[in-house]
Amino acid sequence: MPVLVMKFGGTSVATLDRIRRAAKRVGVEVAKGYDVIVIVSAMSGETNKLVGYVEETSPLFDAREYDAVVSSGENVTAGLMALTLQEMDVPARSWQGWQVPLMTTSAHSSARIVDIPTENITRKFGEGMRVAVVAGFQGISPEGRITTLGRGGSDTTAVAFAAAFDAERCDIYTDVDGVYTTDPRICDKARKLDRIAFEEMLELASLGAKVLQTRSVELAMRYKVKLRVLSSFEEQSDEAGTLVCDEEEIMELNVVSGVAHSRDEAKMTLISVADRPGIAAAIFTPLSEAGINVDMIVQNISEEGRTDMTFSCPTNQVARAEEALKKAKEAGEINFHDLVADTNVCKISVVGIGMRSHTGVAAKMFKVLSDEGINIKVITTSEIKISVLIDRKYMELAVQALHDAFELEKAA
Ligand code: ADP
Ligand code: ASP
Ligand code: MG
Repeated sequence: MPVLVMKFGGTSVATLDRIRRAAKRVGVEVAKGYDVIVIVSAMSGETNKLVGYVEETSPLFDAREYDAVVSSGENVTAGLMALTLQEMDVPARSWQGWQVPLMTTSAHSSARIVDIPTENITRKFGEGMRVAVVAGFQGISPEGRITTLGRGGSDTTAVAFAAAFDAERCDIYTDVDGVYTTDPRICDKARKLDRIAFEEMLELASLGAKVLQTRSVELAMRYKVKLRVLSSFEEQSDEAGTLVCDEEEIMELNVVSGVAHSRDEAKMTLISVADRPGIAAAIFTPLSEAGINVDMIVQNISEEGRTDMTFSCPTNQVARAEEALKKAKEAGEINFHDLVADTNVCKISVVGIGMRSHTGVAAKMFKVLSDEGINIKVITTSEIKISVLIDRKYMELAVQALHDAFELEKAA
């Protein structure tokens, strides 16, 4: 029988009522003749609560125990979803990551999927089971420890299962009815897109549009998974939601197709480091060894052989980054006068494949921000995106002003 993957995010399984509603949607697909693999997130708010427990217990926690704790929210919803389906007379059972087993690397808290053997679940389908409910976000390392795939990781679990089982489609059910030109929660003019190209979705996701986890888009692109984002709260047709697809399958392309924001950014500045060959390596090697995800980097003009070095990283990695840099200073590997962390910043990005062939997008973006009196602290660009770091208090204003200026409420 053809296989369908259906993923339900946190708000879609937040209460027993919502789990029942999701289970009914699964029942509809089973009745059409699909064997269904359901991937569930933890109930909304649950993972945040568990992360909070870990951070309060141990600020520089052992990531293996972090994973043991934060993966547990999905175990609850997987069991509840299987029970709900059984109550509806749909043959179903739950699977935790290690039972599949979903094999990952040992990079705790941001592990990558290495393999999903299909034998166990396929055998159960053969014996009459119609729905495998799999706990998203979690797997098992070669050392036999529980791992997690990074925040939002259930999306990646879903796409990886779709690839492994050669599913007809991977449907991501969430609390919005598709991918929008920007986060509809902060810009009411945001427009739902019927289709979005993999490359653009990849950039939007990596720049903060949390509707899909970045790795899920990478996997879908690599394994040609038919990926759809849709609402778990509305009646659905086969055409509903947003299809993430190849660029060639989209008729009209805007120069800019979306604006993304990320609240979760911190700017760190090393004041007065020696400006000599090897200094960047000396700073960023200990950071990379400490697992810090450095994003933007700026080195200022030097004066009298000394310079300031600024970089950005996720807010929750600031303590770890400070520790790594102080250790490197104590070991004599680097020398700086001061280390300043600014956690009141955010990153705003405009994304569009059309930028490959159009100039002037950066100039327009900077003009819009300056007209609003917003100061730009750091800038980075790539072929299809421009990102700036600004004060967090201007986040909504910047997104709305850019959405207006690039006329994203209108289709191409
Ligand atoms: P889930 O719990 O279902 O995984 P998430 O909260 O991870 O849901 O992702 C859905 C949220 O992503 C939406 O509620 C919305 O606020 C946010 N979002 C950010 N950018 C976008 C965008 N461009 N299009 C749609 N949603 C977006
Ligand atoms: N529950 C996990 C999180 O909140 C994974 C997910 O929902 O995708 O990040
Ligand atoms: Mg999510």
